[in-house]
Amino acid sequence: MKSSILPGQLRPVSHAVELVRCRSASSNRRPSPILRRFQQSHWYLQVRSSLLYLAFLLVAIAIYASTARAQPKVLLVVAHPDDEYYFAATTYRIARELGGTVDQVIITNGEAGFKYSALAEKYYSVELTQEAVGRARLPELRRQEALRAGEVLGIRQHYFLNECDTKFTLDPKEALGGGWDARSVRRHLRELMEHEQYDFIFTLLPRSETHGHHQAATILAVETAAALGELQRPVVLAAEPGLGATAPVPFTGHDHTAVASAAPSFEFNRSRPFGFKNALNYNIVVNWMIAEHKSQGMFQNDSGKHDRERFWLFTENPAGALDRAGKLFSAVNQQ
Ligand SMILES: [Zn+2]
Repeated sequence: MKSSILPGQLRPVSHAVELVRCRSASSNRRPSPILRRFQQSHWYLQVRSSLLYLAFLLVAIAIYASTARAQPKVLLVVAHPDDEYYFAATTYRIARELGGTVDQVIITNGEAGFKYSALAEKYYSVELTQEAVGRARLPELRRQEALRAGEVLGIRQHYFLNECDTKFTLDPKEALGGGWDARSVRRHLRELMEHEQYDFIFTLLPRSETHGHHQAATILAVETAAALGELQRPVVLAAEPGLGATAPVPFTGHDHTAVASAAPSFEFNRSRPFGFKNALNYNIVVNWMIAEHKSQGMFQNDSGKHDRERFWLFTENPAGALDRAGKLFSAVNQQ
């Protein structure tokens, strides 16, 4: 048999009754005199206002943290002033165009670069190619050059660890086995990573054919990040510049520097055209950055040499690293 009362008519009435019953029950409940005195006491009011303030503060921090995480926070860890070249265009995109934050740790003074300083001798009025002069004066000159190049790319803060740049070597153990104060470098990196809570660390791809200092800087960054608590760990990537016309050379790595895939996982195209008549590209920014390192004569020849920044993902990374890095590069590559 069908009901003569529509469902829509019944529900509001019973709901209203329920509400009245609840209100009436609570209004009849009176606190005891002892409880009333306690609720009016100075101590109680103070604790209550402190708890309310704390709750407000926690909500504000949570909102701030979620907003801050919307923009990537990146730390570059490199051996020499000018190594930022490897990810210069990606850095510019993140720091200047995506509203992210990029800091940089430069481990050595870069004074071994005196051999390439002939053209800069007149520019700086210093006989930089004389080894004793170059080693004495280049640390400060290269520091200033790195700061100016960092300004071009939008780097927020530089940390100079002032380790000696003795000479070119292919062996990372020369730096890690006593050439650098590796313990001090690890401590600086750990404190910085813990304090700043970076989302990503960019390093140089540690191929065995490349400068041992580059390899050593990357090893220290990967090891330090891996030793952090799971929730604090940034995603560590290694970069190598290349040419779009040439397939990247596969890389596998060893131990801590093993990578998720022999081919790069991500790429940014410096040559991607944009702007008026599609006449602009990010090689222009990279050239601005190169030009700041005037003491490094041979480095100036790298203008226009590479049009891709390729990134490998280390296997020694927190869960979800591929997804996190994927979102970053999706934003970086957005037109
Ligand atoms: Zn270098």
